[in-house]
Amino acid sequence: MRYIPASTRFLVVLILLSPGTGYSWGYKAHQMITAAAIDILPADMQVVLAPYREALVAQSHAPDVWRYDPDERSRHYVDLELGDRSGYPFPNFPRDYATALQRLGPDSLQKMGTLPWHIDAYFRRTVGSLADPNDSTLVFLSALGHYVADAFMPMHTTVNYDGQLSGNRGVHLRFEWWMLDQNAAAITMKPGLPARITDPLENTWKIVMASYTDVDTILRADTAVRQSFRPPLPGPRGERSADPPYDQELWNRIGWLAQFRMNLAASAVAGFWYEAWLRAGKPSLQGLSALPPPPMD
Ligand SMILES: [Zn+2]
Repeated sequence: MRYIPASTRFLVVLILLSPGTGYSWGYKAHQMITAAAIDILPADMQVVLAPYREALVAQSHAPDVWRYDPDERSRHYVDLELGDRSGYPFPNFPRDYATALQRLGPDSLQKMGTLPWHIDAYFRRTVGSLADPNDSTLVFLSALGHYVADAFMPMHTTVNYDGQLSGNRGVHLRFEWWMLDQNAAAITMKPGLPARITDPLENTWKIVMASYTDVDTILRADTAVRQSFRPPLPGPRGERSADPPYDQELWNRIGWLAQFRMNLAASAVAGFWYEAWLRAGKPSLQGLSALPPPPMD
């Protein structure tokens, strides 16, 4: 399998993501997941977050535009094949960060992505912020939801993240963005009630592994759509654009999968939030002010 240097990867990703930066679900998907997560929180926390619903939704894209930290990019994905070439279920991929760092080294970790460990670390930071709340606490909550939601996006778990290794280049954005934007009105968010997240890291690994098993479904659907619709050629800077007939056919084939995974994501986001809030001692969060969300691009 061809290895793509991280620098090249992000040059490509940043160029092709013309609607925003988006190494992530699209902004609309993040907003829908965040809103749905609030709706299914246990009542005692839901009443606490109700005044901040709009702020949490408005901040849900923020980690995708946090460019001031060069490590931010790698926090949104994990390329499982780069850590263990034996394939699914990647038994040799070190699940804990200390072992991964020792075995693979910091440069390799940056290249393959750090999403599972970042969720675990960010969960603890969110607990800390909730325990001593200030206006940034809302940003922590929204961003934690963002990272958890990213773990449900299958193309965030593979080195073939844009289908570039299988003749499906461009599928990442088409699955998570164009197809959903075009069919937003048809998306139904009715997530299941959240489960307790007793071990955030272990839970995150389960999410990531389950996401990976849907990569082939997305690639196969894209390959099938390409029999009838050729995606438009990239622009002079490599930028991509929506292609309604193609994106619609992709939706017809795997719109169900995006909806399914978005609903699972909303349920997990609520679970992570609730666990963080419980561990922080159920703070009231009264009187916080919503910080302005960063621009979308
Ligand atoms: Zn993201």
